[in-house]
Amino acid sequence: MVYKEGDGLLTEKFDNLVKQLRVLPGVGQKTAQRMALHLLNGKRPQGSALAQALDIAMHGIIECQQCHSFSDDEVCPICLDPRRDDSVLCVVETAADVMAIEQSAGYRGRYFVLGGHLSPLDGINADDLNIDQLVNRVKATPVEELILATSTTVEGQTTAHFISEAVRRHVGKVTRIAQGIPMGGELEYLDSMTLSQALQNRS
Ligand SMILES: [Zn+2]
Repeated sequence: MVYKEGDGLLTEKFDNLVKQLRVLPGVGQKTAQRMALHLLNGKRPQGSALAQALDIAMHGIIECQQCHSFSDDEVCPICLDPRRDDSVLCVVETAADVMAIEQSAGYRGRYFVLGGHLSPLDGINADDLNIDQLVNRVKATPVEELILATSTTVEGQTTAHFISEAVRRHVGKVTRIAQGIPMGGELEYLDSMTLSQALQNRS
């Protein structure tokens, strides 16, 4: 195919690189062009390493058989770690939530990733999430406490309620992550819902 002037920016290969970079969230045309030029101008080895890392990750990262988070092997390092507390299971929507909680460094129990939240309007029902697998997980390996750490959106709350009903008979205690005032937050700027939750859930 002959690359005609006016088809794109520089060359067909350059335009394709820009197009692929735009797949990333928050990356528009200008940013993608800047990234492509940055790699081409003196960062080609790093660009090749990036391409290789992407290829390895896209083909090599799979779902952990136990917690359904991301994993390089059948079972992820968190599920394999003998120092984690087996008696507590934290249920989250996505692998990104596992990362966020791990980075906060305060939790030492196990995880379970649902793969999203219930959203009937978008066609996401219980069968589309790992809810059956969660029930089987707590039946097979009893836990003392199951922490529902889904979002505080309407969908997240609905999902938490649904799971609570589904697992109640099989776990010692079902808890919900606390909702309230963020660290450094000033009361006068909080929405009334958050403030009312914080007053109800005081410690
Ligand atoms: Zn796992």
